[in-house]
Amino acid sequence: MGRLMGWQLARSGYRVALYDRGDATGAQAAAWVAAGMLAPFAEAALAEVLIAELGIESLALWPAILAQLPEPVFFQRNGTLVVWHAADRAQAQLFEQSMRAHLSADLQQTGIVKLQGPVLQTAEPALGTRFSQALLLPHEGQLDNRQLLAALAAGLAQHKAELHWGVTIDDLALPVAGLVIDCRGLGAQPSWPALRGVRGEVIRIQVANLGLTRPLRLLHPRYPLYIAPKENGIYVIGATEIESEDQSAVSVRSALELLSAAFSVHPGFGEARILELSTQCRPTLPDHQPAIAWDGARVLRINGLSRHGYLIAPALCQQALAMIEPLLAGTITDVDAFEAWRQRTRWPTLFQTFPLHPIG
Ligand SMILES: Cc1cc2nc3c(=O)[nH]c(=O)nc-3n(C[C@H](O)[C@H](O)[C@H](O)COP(=O)(O)OP(=O)(O)OC[C@H]3O[C@@H](n4cnc5c(N)ncnc54)[C@H](O)[C@@H]3O)c2cc1C
Repeated sequence: MGRLMGWQLARSGYRVALYDRGDATGAQAAAWVAAGMLAPFAEAALAEVLIAELGIESLALWPAILAQLPEPVFFQRNGTLVVWHAADRAQAQLFEQSMRAHLSADLQQTGIVKLQGPVLQTAEPALGTRFSQALLLPHEGQLDNRQLLAALAAGLAQHKAELHWGVTIDDLALPVAGLVIDCRGLGAQPSWPALRGVRGEVIRIQVANLGLTRPLRLLHPRYPLYIAPKENGIYVIGATEIESEDQSAVSVRSALELLSAAFSVHPGFGEARILELSTQCRPTLPDHQPAIAWDGARVLRINGLSRHGYLIAPALCQQALAMIEPLLAGTITDVDAFEAWRQRTRWPTLFQTFPLHPIG
């Protein structure tokens, strides 16, 4: 979130300094471990309508963002295929109902396609006849998150942003600036105690010639499982969702479940090589929704992206940028002006004042 905000501001002509306790790769961030799925429809089964709306908006924004970055980023918009084993049929019905409940009639009509038999085999030939039914969510996509982090770092440098890697920022020593934008994810927890981490584990494997053409979701009794094909035969299998801030290595149980799930989708995964097992925690607010919070003076905090960072970041960034202009221009000066401005936005619930720093 911080890199995207910084890059957008720098290329709009603002002077930007970025501070990150990690390095330019982003390997210390939740953003590094993520799968980079852009799945507003599938996520609608689990999340509030706001997430689907921000996600659909963001899907449309990603191509223009990526086209302006100085390095290539793998981006695909070839849909997601939701599959289930026969024993989990009841779960498929529940999933579809929950998804539809959070989508408009129009989106339901164009964004959810039921496939079966030969039509399913033609849509995803690599699956053969292993599944008899599936849901295709044709508008969904994915990107290569690690390429994106690198490309944004390069884009920041290109636009002459000051880059301070390896610098930890704490609340008592905020950098001096016209505006400080705090996008520290779970690192902001000391100043935003409502934030909590939700542990997620993923496995990266590599196998040649398996031929899956789009991300698959396998309905699973415990958590939404996906297999996302990246470039060069790399597949990201994820993700567990555990109420814990433990960031220790992937457990045997999770590894067994994730790998068995992949193997049950395609036996060809049996010959894949395990490249990486990784854990990170999703920065999550109590209502599982993102927030853009203003302290009444010169700090804006963007957090709570939870399991949807890539899905919603472009739209969130656009909303935050819309607030920065009047803030810096001195049009939003107090809570009344902020409130009046907020009510005119498309998603007023995104904006709040930061509770620990009362205005005044
Ligand atoms: C297993 C897993 C799978 C996921 N899959 C997906 C997915 O498929 N699609 C999707 O949309 N989202 C996914 N996500 C969610 C996504 O990764 C997060 O929503 C997103 O990374 C949050 O972005 P952020 O910038 O707020 O936090 P982060 O990505 O954690 O970045 C925070 C940055 O702040 C820096 N920082 C922290 N504290 C300090 C400090 N004190 N001083 C200086 N710098 C600091 C960190 O080094 C880091 O660079 C997944 C997450 C996980 C864990």
